[in-house]
Amino acid sequence: MKKDIKNLTLRELEGFFASLNEKKYRAKEVFNAIYKERKESFLAITTLSKEIRETLDNIFYITIFKEISRKTSKDDATKFVFELSDKRLIESVLIKNTNKIGRTWFTACLSTQVGCPLGCQFCATGKMGIIRNLETGEIVEQFLRLERENPISNIVFMGMGEPLLNYENVKKAIQILTDENGRNLGKRHITISTSGITPMIYKLADEIQSVKLAVSLHSAIQIKRDSLMPGLKNYPLNKLKEALVYYNKKTGNTVTLEYLLIDGINDSKSDAEALVKFSRDLRFVKVNLIHYNEIPINNFKPSSKEIEFQKFLLTNGLRATLRLSKGTDVSAACGQLATNSKENIQFKI
Ligand code: SAH
Ligand code: SF4
Repeated sequence: MKKDIKNLTLRELEGFFASLNEKKYRAKEVFNAIYKERKESFLAITTLSKEIRETLDNIFYITIFKEISRKTSKDDATKFVFELSDKRLIESVLIKNTNKIGRTWFTACLSTQVGCPLGCQFCATGKMGIIRNLETGEIVEQFLRLERENPISNIVFMGMGEPLLNYENVKKAIQILTDENGRNLGKRHITISTSGITPMIYKLADEIQSVKLAVSLHSAIQIKRDSLMPGLKNYPLNKLKEALVYYNKKTGNTVTLEYLLIDGINDSKSDAEALVKFSRDLRFVKVNLIHYNEIPINNFKPSSKEIEFQKFLLTNGLRATLRLSKGTDVSAACGQLATNSKENIQFKI
């Protein structure tokens, strides 16, 4: 069976060429051809001899997704649905950002799993359950496909799935996309968002220090968090905090706590107090308050106290921003990503 070459890091590809008694630098040539020149077939890599091109073609393939659909929202987020080789569907979002002085840049929001096993109450992906992890090459290909539209400077792993439950493949995809012989994307421009898989936060702190970390907290009160995020019961808040203290110390990076504001659920004064208390032990921390995007699988509504909640945090010395999610009118926003690949149709959400 042929393998996807986009699953291989530069080091792994060098190992492959060494096993053929070929020069190691051939791997760099392949990386350059695929990730810089964007060649989509081995036969087109004319810097390699015909013999090597044919050998590569016999052993590997280059994943190219089929695009099923794309929709652009009024605020410039384009949601793509891609079909994988086993006909499963995933979603990836290209987001155009503009700052106050009019500078624009693009961010890729990438999926890491087909579905997600953690079943958070507020999340459309969580309602799908888990179908499978994405391969390294499938994560890399999402980025390359989005970059056909515009040069991209940032990646957020905030699409479908829990990145830290597919850690090795996410790590390899980051190694490939940041490799200076290939796409050479800045590591500081990558954010991993996790629901709080504690043991993997330690691993991340030890192994991929330059990427940024965001943690979906949503409640700093244990019983509330357990009911909102039932899949996280084995990773309680006190252990999560310990992991984040370690992360701060080891990397010196700020942790962003993501906090969805849901009306009457987690937006009271005592919720805000619990959040302040949770954050107090962290050295480098900021809170990103997220506007809740309604999905038809529950009765949750966006909070009417967003500004008030933010003020409380600020007056208690916590850095806190309020984020309006982009792409709501095309279901491209956070928590709205869900595909039903069994029937090959998208949920109408
Ligand atoms: N599994 C990871 C990454 C994917 S979710 C995680 O949970 O962090 C990315 C972000 O979307 C998370 O902060 C998540 O909490 C948020 N999100 C989920 N459902 C949402 C909704 N209905 N409205 C707005 N944001 C949502
Ligand atoms: Fe999974 Fe994140 Fe959605 Fe929770 S919020 S179900 S962890 S994708």
